[in-house]
Amino acid sequence: MIDIKSYDYEELKAYFAALGEPAFRATQVYDWLHCKHATDFGQMTNLSKSLREKLAADCTIAKAEPVQILSSALDGTKKFLFRFADGNVIESVFLPYKHGNSVCISTQVGCRMGCRFCASTLDGMTRNLTAAEMLEEVYRISALTGERISNVVLMGAGEPLDNFDEVTRFLRMISDEHGAHISQRNLTLSTCGLVPEIRRLSESDYQITLAISLHAPTQEKRETLMPIARRYPLTELIPACRDYFAKTGRRLTFEYSLIDGVNDTDEDAENLCRLLKNLPCHVNLIALNPIKERNFCESGGLRPIKFKNLLEKNRINVTIRREMGRDINGACGQLRKSYVDSESS
Ligand code: SAH
Repeated sequence: MIDIKSYDYEELKAYFAALGEPAFRATQVYDWLHCKHATDFGQMTNLSKSLREKLAADCTIAKAEPVQILSSALDGTKKFLFRFADGNVIESVFLPYKHGNSVCISTQVGCRMGCRFCASTLDGMTRNLTAAEMLEEVYRISALTGERISNVVLMGAGEPLDNFDEVTRFLRMISDEHGAHISQRNLTLSTCGLVPEIRRLSESDYQITLAISLHAPTQEKRETLMPIARRYPLTELIPACRDYFAKTGRRLTFEYSLIDGVNDTDEDAENLCRLLKNLPCHVNLIALNPIKERNFCESGGLRPIKFKNLLEKNRINVTIRREMGRDINGACGQLRKSYVDSESS
């Protein structure tokens, strides 16, 4: 069976051409799938009955079934648990902002990167999500909340660049003018630092924001927090980031979660300034969200402000990110995978 929602517009045109159908069928079906969010070929009333039956016999339509929705009492954040056809369950988050609504999507079921402070990686990775499943996360949230989505961040469970082909297909499709048409400038991809894929991305012309999860200013410290640092040391990562800027002209974001006594001292701030010297970037300081399996704590008191001031003194562009959805475990690093047997539920 063909997963018809994973076909981009050009592929859909080729598919209908092969069926001997006129080209406008692709426009109609793309619109049903990606604008009207149809879940069944029976809904596609401007197609003939025989074509609908043919499509239903050949193709499936990927679907994210909501199994639980949690709403934050603090800030309007909503966390969605979605189940896919094979029973795997992933989490996505709706974040209402004044400047527009954002959806944070998962890109894999679980994660195999092993960052010490992150809940998504505790049980490893089960599988990659398809582009259609990632689109579904956005479409379902838009339908269930009745809200327009203007930004998508790939910062849920999973490492996006570990699922390069499906993730880049997703980026192309979510920004396609025939579909949701979300500007690529409103898409942010966050990576723990897979150097070959960062370089691959810089060769293409995606207009997205690339965010690097840095979390430590020295190789030694980064290795203790993020196993990936052993494979791609800072001596390779930072030059890849500089080249990314040189090639794309797009300023990078560095994410840095402040962990009490681990990476939040004045010396850490000074090392960070040295590391990022002359690299056009923005640093996002995030308060660590505690997870129960680890005893890391967030930086307390005035530490985050002091850290920020030290960066600013060195003319580094920096903000302290307001964390949302903590009370529903919907904040960074708190998303988990689970499995619901589709037979028994
Ligand atoms: N795998 C990607 C995207 C997922 S995580 C990446 O590593 O970038 C999104 C962000 O949340 C990353 O910067 C990640 O390092 C951070 N994060 C993970 N666990 C966290 C926690 N417990 N508290 C705060 N941020 C966390």
